[in-house]
Amino acid sequence: MSQAQESDSSLLVVVLDANASAWAQSPLSLDKALQQLVIFINAYLALNPENQLVVLGASHKECRYLFPADPSSAPPTHDIQVYEQFRTVDVHVLSGVHEMLSSHVDGNTEEQQSLIARALSKALCHINQVNQLSVNKIWSRILVLSAGQDSPHSYIPLMNTIFAAQKMSVLIDICKVFGQDSVFLQQAAEITGGNYLKVDTNSEASLLQTLLFICLPDQYTRNILNAPGNDLIDFRATCFCHKRVVDIGYVCSVCLSIFCQTAPVCSTCQTKFSFRLVKSDSNQSNSTSSPNASAMSSLSLKP
Ligand SMILES: [Zn+2]
Ligand SMILES: [Zn+2]
Repeated sequence: MSQAQESDSSLLVVVLDANASAWAQSPLSLDKALQQLVIFINAYLALNPENQLVVLGASHKECRYLFPADPSSAPPTHDIQVYEQFRTVDVHVLSGVHEMLSSHVDGNTEEQQSLIARALSKALCHINQVNQLSVNKIWSRILVLSAGQDSPHSYIPLMNTIFAAQKMSVLIDICKVFGQDSVFLQQAAEITGGNYLKVDTNSEASLLQTLLFICLPDQYTRNILNAPGNDLIDFRATCFCHKRVVDIGYVCSVCLSIFCQTAPVCSTCQTKFSFRLVKSDSNQSNSTSSPNASAMSSLSLKP
């Protein structure tokens, strides 16, 4: 079978963390970050007229398309001084974010975790759809602009989307604007071949600089650029029982669920563990046992 020709155009999915309470803590305001983001988006669209763009907004409550916008929404007013495509994108992204924020004013404003896993799933579905419909192979990537914290409850769906992205050869760039390093998003960047970038928000224009210098280059240019490496990636996993990041955990040998402490029954697949077998297994180093009878194995999760 002949392989689809690779096209020069690319598909970029931007996942914007639109969590108001997370941005409220950030030295860089959401408005300023948005201004810099739309400049980056315009630069991306200007690189190649065939470049495709999707912008998704993710808050703690919902995940929605900001661009392409709902066809039923009012088109932006015409402005002769601005390139039409730039104007359409800018207006839809900015108004979409403000609409999202205003619709969540009454919600739990303390929640600083956004639905990033859901947004990544949506992004991968869109990329898959575009790939199915296009004749040439389009280089696809995802950029996550993250301000919130990791959500341990979404560890499993997030890891599933990361491995799906790896299988689809979709790289994920992470721009962490504020707060502690995200263990999960670091792994997303490392596993998919993207960059994990921590932005110095004390300098107001550093977000734009990071986006333009590191996230804008296409697949050909990236090969000759010396991008900052993901040297300090934290590969620890989260236990399925308490959703805590663990250094050393116990892995169910049947479903590979991770636990921070031993338990007689796996809470995910209900397998009963025989701890007697652990003893006998440790005496006979090469012994094998049936999966149902085997016990939890401990695993050091440090790299
Ligand atoms: Zn636990
Ligand atoms: Zn299990």
